[in-house]
Amino acid sequence: KKLGIALVGLGYYAKNLLAPALEKTGECYLAGIVTGTPSKIPEWKEKYNIADKNVYSYDTFDKIKDNPDIDIIYVVLPNSMHKEYTIRAAKAGKHVICEKPMALNPAECREMIAACDKAKVKLAIGYRLHSEPHTQEIMRLKREKDFGAVKLVEAADGFKIGDPTQWRLKKALAGGGAMYDVGVYCINGARYATGEQPIAVTAQEYKTDPVKFKEVDETITWQMEFSSGAVATCTTTYAASTERLYVAYEKGWAELRPAFGYGPIKGKTNKGEMDIPHTIHQALQMDDFSRCVKENKESPVNGYEGLKDLLVVEAIYKSIGSGKRELVNPV
Ligand code: NAD
Repeated sequence: KKLGIALVGLGYYAKNLLAPALEKTGECYLAGIVTGTPSKIPEWKEKYNIADKNVYSYDTFDKIKDNPDIDIIYVVLPNSMHKEYTIRAAKAGKHVICEKPMALNPAECREMIAACDKAKVKLAIGYRLHSEPHTQEIMRLKREKDFGAVKLVEAADGFKIGDPTQWRLKKALAGGGAMYDVGVYCINGARYATGEQPIAVTAQEYKTDPVKFKEVDETITWQMEFSSGAVATCTTTYAASTERLYVAYEKGWAELRPAFGYGPIKGKTNKGEMDIPHTIHQALQMDDFSRCVKENKESPVNGYEGLKDLLVVEAIYKSIGSGKRELVNPV
């Protein structure tokens, strides 16, 4: 049986990426929607054949607990709302996928993990790249040591942000700027490439438009140290488009460019191009999680993976404030 997924928040990502991907999944399908905007309902119902009884508002959300059509709740709301809706989903007895960044800080992540543990439901973060074959090749290169040990990682993710009124520029809703939005991909990419959680960071912040970026960061550069001796240097920005993951090993290198977007991702190593076809990341991701639910296995992108990134984010802001190298708090 295909598991039923309900999307919470019908914004850009839900509408343009997740819902279309749910037409390509084999293990799950779009069973329900949760929205605060009633005018969106008819189009979604018609396009995806969603039954009236599977349409919820934020007020009726908790009634999902009585709906056997919904197995998984997928939280696709602004960052500040991830914690509340993940915990409410767990209390409704449903498995949860929560978009990245998992929450605003490590304390929130821990509350979410505890709530899902208590309710005995599975939690995954929307880290679609963990299911993406080029990224998996980067993980394999570290694991099987084709080119020896990882020495250096360079990661960058950024784009030029538009509309100055959007929630991504409001600290209360977003948590922070580029770092929360796409900087997490650099942290994540470096963690995949090294197979390690960083132990210390040094970070620098730059702002060219203090009006637009009054509340959140525009550009942050940072360095991460790993206990193996590997070092990562990273950039995230809302000022310009950049997207790259480069790994230097003892005896070679690998690069993904573009590395973090919806694809096609392109990869090469010192041996040549990676011959890997484009896939729909979100379909692979949701099928992978659905299999975890069906087989009662922990997701490889569980809440602790989201927490690990937020612990690094916390150390990065601390370093910007102190101007010093800061240790990353342990998981
Ligand atoms: P969006 O602004 O397009 O959609 C947000 C949705 O939340 C809208 O439907 C909006 O109506 C609803 N909403 C409810 N309360 C709101 C409030 N108080 N303020 C603003 N909107 C409110 O955003 P998006 O790009 O779809 O991002 C949603 C989440 O998905 C974010 O956490 C983002 O980081 C994540 N995301 C992940 C990926 C990925 O590749 N994994 C890509 C894009 C976005």
